[in-house]
Amino acid sequence: RAKAEGRGSFRFFDDSLTAGARHRIEMETRLRRAIEADELELHYQPQVDVTSGRMIGAEALVRWRDGDRGLVPPDAFIPVAEQTGMIAALGDWVLREACRQGREWHDAGLPVPRLAVNVSARQLQDESLVDRVRAVLDETGYPPDRLELELTESALMHQQERSVRVLRALRRLGLHLAIDDFGTGYSSLAYLRQFPIDVLKIDKRFVDDLADNNDDREIAGAILAMGHALRLSVLAEGVETEAQLAFLRANGCDSYQGYLFSPPLPPAGFARLLAD
Ligand code: C2E
Ligand code: MG
Ligand code: MG
Ligand code: MG
Repeated sequence: RAKAEGRGSFRFFDDSLTAGARHRIEMETRLRRAIEADELELHYQPQVDVTSGRMIGAEALVRWRDGDRGLVPPDAFIPVAEQTGMIAALGDWVLREACRQGREWHDAGLPVPRLAVNVSARQLQDESLVDRVRAVLDETGYPPDRLELELTESALMHQQERSVRVLRALRRLGLHLAIDDFGTGYSSLAYLRQFPIDVLKIDKRFVDDLADNNDDREIAGAILAMGHALRLSVLAEGVETEAQLAFLRANGCDSYQGYLFSPPLPPAGFARLLAD
């Protein structure tokens, strides 16, 4: 009996240990099939100039159109893709699709703004990133200066020297570079200025309470001052209210994106917006 219990509890322990690994393997397989079956799609969220109110860019955000689950948001599969290494194939797909789509809209006569694509830490660590980007630009005929890559602060912190090298090479291709979710990492002014960056994106969490939280106003104000001291353009993420926009305008923020102007739109909806 003791033996049976022992075996039972051992098996239980063993099962729980492998549950995470099993989930990752299963997700990896499903993701791989999703890419092959063309189940990923990009939605596009406008980026707007604070002063003129005009669209100056759009961020491409990936979604997974899954038969059983409907439209799956990236937070549900990007982390797994990063853990399993699937992010390389997924990242390539996203980059190629954004450029292909941008080229298609351009050829249809639509005024395509600069398209921004998210790049994960793992992609940045891969020495072949620059070649991959160059290949996609060649293949799609998409103009490099109409493409922006968004990198997170923590991704750059990871391997600073290599990051600087890769970023310089991407810049030489003609790309724009942005730091995403800014304020959530620990970048100092001295650290930031070594990177050839064009845009700082203030993380949504500092934008949320701008209307009534004095600390967040101070932080957003400090990021704006710091960004401008480095001659960077500053964009605020997740702007939902006129009050937030009013604060940003009064403090010289260059651009914003958020539900106030538009949520991320599927390609057809975004194309209609461009056509107007
Ligand atoms: P992110 O790059 O910071 O993207 C901004 C997120 O904020 C998006 O969520 C967007 O839909 C959401 N958002 C924009 N405006 C508002 C607003 O006014 N209110 C609220 N509540 N949310 C707003 P989404 O699309 O779910 O993406 C989540 C994250 O997944 C992204 O954060 C990015 O880190 C990652 N991600 C998305 N697409 C890709 C991709 O193609 N590659 C990689 N590596 N990561 C991606
Ligand atoms: Mg982003
Ligand atoms: Mg962000
Ligand atoms: Mg984010």
